[in-house]
Amino acid sequence: MATYDLLLLAGDGIGPEIMAQTKRIIGWFNDNGEHQFNIQDDLVGGASYEAHKNPATDEMMAKAMAADAVLFGAVGGEQWAGVPYDERPEAGLLRLRKDMELFANLRPAVCYPALATASALKPELVEGLDIMIVRELTGGVYFGEPKQITGEGNHKRAVDTQVYETYEIDRISRVAFDLAKKRSNKVHSAEKHNVMATGVLWKEVVARVHGEDFGGVELYHILADNCAMQLVRNPKQFDVIVTDNLFGDILSDVAAMLTGSLGMLASASLGAMGTDGKMKAMYEPVHGSAPDIAGKGEANPIAMIDSFGMCLRYSFNMGREADQLQSAITQVLANGLRTADIMQDGMTGVSTSGMGDAILCELEARA
Ligand code: NAD
Repeated sequence: MATYDLLLLAGDGIGPEIMAQTKRIIGWFNDNGEHQFNIQDDLVGGASYEAHKNPATDEMMAKAMAADAVLFGAVGGEQWAGVPYDERPEAGLLRLRKDMELFANLRPAVCYPALATASALKPELVEGLDIMIVRELTGGVYFGEPKQITGEGNHKRAVDTQVYETYEIDRISRVAFDLAKKRSNKVHSAEKHNVMATGVLWKEVVARVHGEDFGGVELYHILADNCAMQLVRNPKQFDVIVTDNLFGDILSDVAAMLTGSLGMLASASLGAMGTDGKMKAMYEPVHGSAPDIAGKGEANPIAMIDSFGMCLRYSFNMGREADQLQSAITQVLANGLRTADIMQDGMTGVSTSGMGDAILCELEARA
């Protein structure tokens, strides 16, 4: 029996509500599974700012660095709008990503059969959809220098710089190919080699890594604009899409909306494997702190619970348990239970904790 250390950072708004349900699920696996999870809680974001005037303290960061994985809820809220930029709740999230060197962002877009009619696309286009977007998270145009606005009045000049080095493309493409081997063995690499130098290098490095180590995986190079169009035209042609920071930001939001609600979408951010054999990893829902519904018991906890499912799969190689959790969620939705954000005619409304109860009940049925 292995024991894993989890750091839980619930954060602000609905963060504590959805994390509370996730804790119940972790507790269930502690009682019924083969492995044990040691849970530690700490503050992040606005909650940490209120307590320490700092959205990510050194003490919390030390716990995050030592943990086997971090589960993160959400941060932010209007009450911190006037706080200096470096002390805002979001700065806590950015520090975690930066200090843990989480360069690979995995965003699955999965359409549960029971929710196919909630998509903006026709149900037949999205039913059974299961895409994984692998976004490079620590390089590219959001970080490249120079990044500045110069000049005065009506004669200003703004510059952002897109920079990629070989090693950054090499390591993210390996994450994508490795994932593809565990899925449908197919990778689309999206860039703009027709108009961008970084696109030319991106294509060259991905092709080299593929040729050297992943010949068994199908690889397609696709222009990022065409990828956006194809995602809306025929999304099921994709399995794994690997792309840079900027294109990944946009393409993953497009893919997200194919599946219905923000409350359903999980994500993983992974770092390199350390010499101790441990990979730094943080798992979080895609959505924010939803201040409009915080404290009302209306939040959908599925994205947060599913983030723990990704943690089981990617940090601890517990595919069977992750499948068990996924199947419990699928069944709850098939049974017609819905939080307000995914409510449909004829379905039964449940609260945040009601959704937690239902998922636990389905897990019990599978024990
Ligand atoms: P949001 O994702 O918090 O909410 C957008 C809409 O989706 C809201 O109507 C909200 O009620 C709904 N929603 C989101 N998650 C839901 C859930 N689990 N269940 C049911 N409904 C849900 O985005 P926003 O309103 O633009 O931002 C609110 C705050 O969150 C801001 O301070 C923003 O900076 C922050 N934010 C944080 C993160 C993060 O922590 N990773 C991400 C995005 C936004």
